[in-house]
Amino acid sequence: MTENPFFRPSTLDYELPPFAEIREEHYLPAYERGMAEQLAEIAAITADRSLPTFENTLVALERSGELLRRVDAVFRNQSSSDTTDLLDEVEAKVSPLLAAHHDAIHLDRALFARIEALYRTRTELGLDPESLRLLERRYTGFERSGARLGEAEQARLRELNAELAALGTTFQQNVNAATRANALVLDSAAELAGLSEGAIAGAAENARVLGHEDKYVLSLKNTSGQPELAQLTDRSVRERLLAASLGRGIEANGPIAIRMAGLRAERAALLGHPSHAAYVVADETAGTVEAVSALLARLVGPAVANARREAAELAAAAAADGIGEIAAHDWAYYSEKVRQSSFQVDAAVLRPYFELERVLRDGVFFAANLAYGLSFTERPDLTAHHPDARVFEVFEEDGTALGLFVGDFHARASKRGGAWMDSLVEQSALTGRRPVVLNNLNIPLPAPGEPVLMSWDEVRTLFHEFGHALHGLFSEVRYPLFSGTSVPRDFVEFPSQVNEMWMVRPEVLANYARHHETGEPLPAGLVERMTAAEGFGQGFRTVEYLAATLLDWAWHTVPQGEEIADAEEFESRALAAAGVGVDAIPPRYRTTYFQHVFASGYSAAYYAYIWSEVLDADTVQWFEGNGRPVRESGEVFRRELLARGFSRDPLESFRAVVGRAPETEPLLARRGLL
Ligand SMILES: [Zn+2]
Repeated sequence: MTENPFFRPSTLDYELPPFAEIREEHYLPAYERGMAEQLAEIAAITADRSLPTFENTLVALERSGELLRRVDAVFRNQSSSDTTDLLDEVEAKVSPLLAAHHDAIHLDRALFARIEALYRTRTELGLDPESLRLLERRYTGFERSGARLGEAEQARLRELNAELAALGTTFQQNVNAATRANALVLDSAAELAGLSEGAIAGAAENARVLGHEDKYVLSLKNTSGQPELAQLTDRSVRERLLAASLGRGIEANGPIAIRMAGLRAERAALLGHPSHAAYVVADETAGTVEAVSALLARLVGPAVANARREAAELAAAAAADGIGEIAAHDWAYYSEKVRQSSFQVDAAVLRPYFELERVLRDGVFFAANLAYGLSFTERPDLTAHHPDARVFEVFEEDGTALGLFVGDFHARASKRGGAWMDSLVEQSALTGRRPVVLNNLNIPLPAPGEPVLMSWDEVRTLFHEFGHALHGLFSEVRYPLFSGTSVPRDFVEFPSQVNEMWMVRPEVLANYARHHETGEPLPAGLVERMTAAEGFGQGFRTVEYLAATLLDWAWHTVPQGEEIADAEEFESRALAAAGVGVDAIPPRYRTTYFQHVFASGYSAAYYAYIWSEVLDADTVQWFEGNGRPVRESGEVFRRELLARGFSRDPLESFRAVVGRAPETEPLLARRGLL
C-alpha cells in the first residue's frame, strides 16, 4: 500500500488536498495519527520547563494539529457530499473520538495553567491586537469547555460530550436514511400532472437510478416543504408528498432529540448556565437569551398576521376548486395560483432564463467582479472530491492569485440535502496558507443532454453560498482560529445573505438572466412582478422559519432535569405556546429531521439566520444608499468586514462599514413586518 496521502502536506497548488490519491481506507488511520500527533505536540508545550510565553504556548497551540486539520477538512466534506456506507461507519467511529480529543486538550490542566498565567498578565505582554484577541479567545474557549471544573465534573463532562457526539451522528444518519426511504414512489405520469415535462422525465430517471423500473420517484428535500407541492394538481398526491416529508425520523429520532436536549441541559448546568441556550448565546453576538427572545417575540405577531392574510387570499383561490379549508399541502399550490393571477408570475416561466453556467459565470462571478474586481479561471487540471465538482482559481483585480473555489452544484443520492460552504484549506499568515473554499448545492441533474435550469430559489442559494465562499477567500488574518467564516454563528449568515442582493441588482440580472436557447433577456417587468410576488409569500416564509427557530429555542431552554415524554407532543405544545402554531404552516424543519440543531452545530442557534438578516438588510441599504460607486463600497465591505474574520469583534467590523450600530427597521420593512 502506498503511503497515506494525509500524512504529508499536499504538494498541489494552494495545498489542495490530493483527491486523486485519497481512498476511503485512508481516513481512519489519518484521524488516529492526527489526534496522536496533536496530543504529542500539546505534551511538548506543557513539558517545556521555561516560563509560558505567547510564542511557546499560544502560537504553538495554533500550529498544532496540522494532520488532523488536513484529514478533517476533507472528510467533513466527503461524508456530507458523497458518502458511502464505509464513510458513515468511519464517521460514527470518529465523532466520539473527536469529542474526546477536544476534551483531552481543553481539560488539560497543565496547558490551561499556562494559558491562564498569560491571560492574567495579558496587558503587559506587548501583544498586537490580533494576538491579544487570540489569548482572550483561547482563554474563554478553555473556560467554556470546562477547564475550571473539578475532577468528577470533568469526568462527567467527558461522558456527556462523547454521548452527544455519537447521538448527533446517529441522528444525521437517521435523517439521511429516512429522507431516502420516504421518497414518494408513483406509478403513473398522470399522478405528476402539473409538473413540467422535464421534471416528469427527471422523476422517471430518478426512479430508474433508484431501482424502481417504470415508476416515478420524487426524492425529498431537507425542508418540510417540497418544491413540487407548488405544482402538483392532484391534491391527494400533494397530501402524500407532504406527509412523507413531515413523517421523517419520528420513531428513530424522537427519542434521540429528547435525550440530546436532556444531556445538553445537564452540560449547561455543569458549566454554570441555566440552559443550553444560555450557554450557547453567551458566546454569540446576541449575548443573552433575553435578547434573542425579544427579537423573536417582536416578529411573531406581525408575521402570523401576514400569514393569516395570505391564507385568506389562498382560500379564495381554493374555493374555485371546491376546497373549503386550506390544508398544509395546499398552501404552496394556491400560493403559486395567486402569484400567477395577482402578479402574472409563473415560476416555470423563469427557469429557462436561469441556466446554471450562465448564472454562475455571468451572475455570481460577474457580481464578484463588479464589487471586488475578482476574476475566475477554471482549473480542469486540478481534481476535486467528485467528478461533478469543479475547481476555479480566483484572481484579484491586479492579477494576484487569491485562492481556489470548488463548486459542487448537483444533487446526488450520496449527498446530504441543503446547501453549504466549507473550507478545505484555511487562510492564515502564520501558516502561510491561502484559502481553498467549497460550495455544495443540490441542484437536480437534468435528463442527459438537457441544460441545467434553475429555480429562483436555487439561484438565490448559489449567490448565498458564494457569499460564504467570499468570506473565506477574502480572509486576511494571522491566526487560523480567526480565519474567514470562523465567526459566531449568529454573524456568519450575514455576509452570505448580503451577497444575495446581487441576484436582483439590475446590471447583474441583465447580464445573467438570458433564455438558454434564444439568449433573450427576461420579459420586461417580470422581475418587478416576481419581487412583488415574493412580498406576498413573506408571511408564510417568516412563520415557517420562526416556527423552526422557536422549536429549537424550546428544546434548548429546557432546564436540567425537566422530563420530556414525547417529542411530537413537546413540539406541538412548544409551537402553540410561542404563538406560531398556525395549522397549515408546518415549521421549516420538524424536530425529527432538524439536523441543524441536532446534528450540525446550530443548536440554540437557528435564530442566527434572522439575527444575521438584521445586519444583512441594514448593510444592503448601506450599499444602495451610500452614494459611492459599487466597487468602492465592495472594497470597504471586504477590507473592514470580510477580511477580518474573527480577528476583531464582528460588531465592530459592522460599525466600521455602516458607521453605526445595527438597526432592525430595514429587516422589518423587507419582511413586511412594520
Ligand atoms: Zn448560509
